[in-house]
Amino acid sequence: MDRIAQIPPGILLATFLGLTAIIALRYVMISGLFYWLLWGRPRDRVRAIKLMRGQPKAGTVRREIGWSLLSSFIYAAPAAVVIELWKLGGTAVYTDLDAYPLWWIPVSVFVYLFLQDTYFYWTHRAMHHPKLFRAMHRVHHESRPPTPWAAFSFHPYESAVGAIFPPLMALFIPIHVGAVLFILTLMTLAAVFNHSGWEIFPKWWLRALPGRHLITAAHHDLHHKNPNVNYGLYFRFWDKLMGTDVMESEYEFLQPRPAPVYGENPP
Ligand SMILES: [Zn+2]
Ligand SMILES: [Zn+2]
Repeated sequence: MDRIAQIPPGILLATFLGLTAIIALRYVMISGLFYWLLWGRPRDRVRAIKLMRGQPKAGTVRREIGWSLLSSFIYAAPAAVVIELWKLGGTAVYTDLDAYPLWWIPVSVFVYLFLQDTYFYWTHRAMHHPKLFRAMHRVHHESRPPTPWAAFSFHPYESAVGAIFPPLMALFIPIHVGAVLFILTLMTLAAVFNHSGWEIFPKWWLRALPGRHLITAAHHDLHHKNPNVNYGLYFRFWDKLMGTDVMESEYEFLQPRPAPVYGENPP
C-alpha cells in the first residue's frame, strides 16, 4: 500500500492509457486476423472443423467488439498499477535470468496458468448462479454462437473479476518478465481460438495426450450451447474432477474408430 502511494498519478494514468491501447490493438489485430482467416475466405480454403451453422451475424460481431473494447480498459487498470509497482521494485516479476533457476521459467508459466484456470473455473461456475448470471455473465452468453470477436466480450463486472487475478499473482509468485509477455499473448490467443466457431486443432491432437486435457474451441463452444458444462479456461482438469466435462460424447470425430472386422465377409 505504501508503494502504491508513491506512484505519481500522472505516470499511472499514462501507463493505464498506453496499456489500454496495447490490449485493444492486440485484440483487434488477433481477432481480426482469425475472423478473416476463418470466416472471410471461401470455406474450402479453411483447414479447420466448422462448429456452428451458418455465418456470424453482423449485430453479434458489433456487440462483441463493443464489450471487448470496454474490457480492454478494465484489464489495463490493475495491470498498470502492477507495472508501476514493478518499477519501484514492489512485485515478484524479475528480469535477471540468474535470479531463479532456468527450470523455474516453464514451471512458473504452468503455475500461473493452472492457478488462473482454477480461479476462472470457480468464479465462472459462481457466475452461473441465477442471481450473478443476470448481473455479470449474461453478456458473454449472448454470443450464441460466439465469433473470434467474443474474446473479451464480457460485462464490466465480469471483466473486473477476471482482470484482478493475474496482476495479484505477479505480486507474490516469482516470474520472469519474458514469461509474463508469453502468458499475456497466450491468454489472448486462447480467448480468440476458443470463441472462433472453428476447431483449428487437428483431430489427432484432440484425441492424443496432452491435447485431450486442454481446452480448445470444440470444448468451449459446447459451454455456449449448454451453460451447465465445460466451465474451464485452459485445462479440462477441474471440469473432469467436478463432473462438468463434456466433449467426446458430443463429437463424432472424437469417437475411437471401430477396429476393422475381418471374418466371413472380408471388406
Ligand atoms: Zn465463452
Ligand atoms: Zn459461462
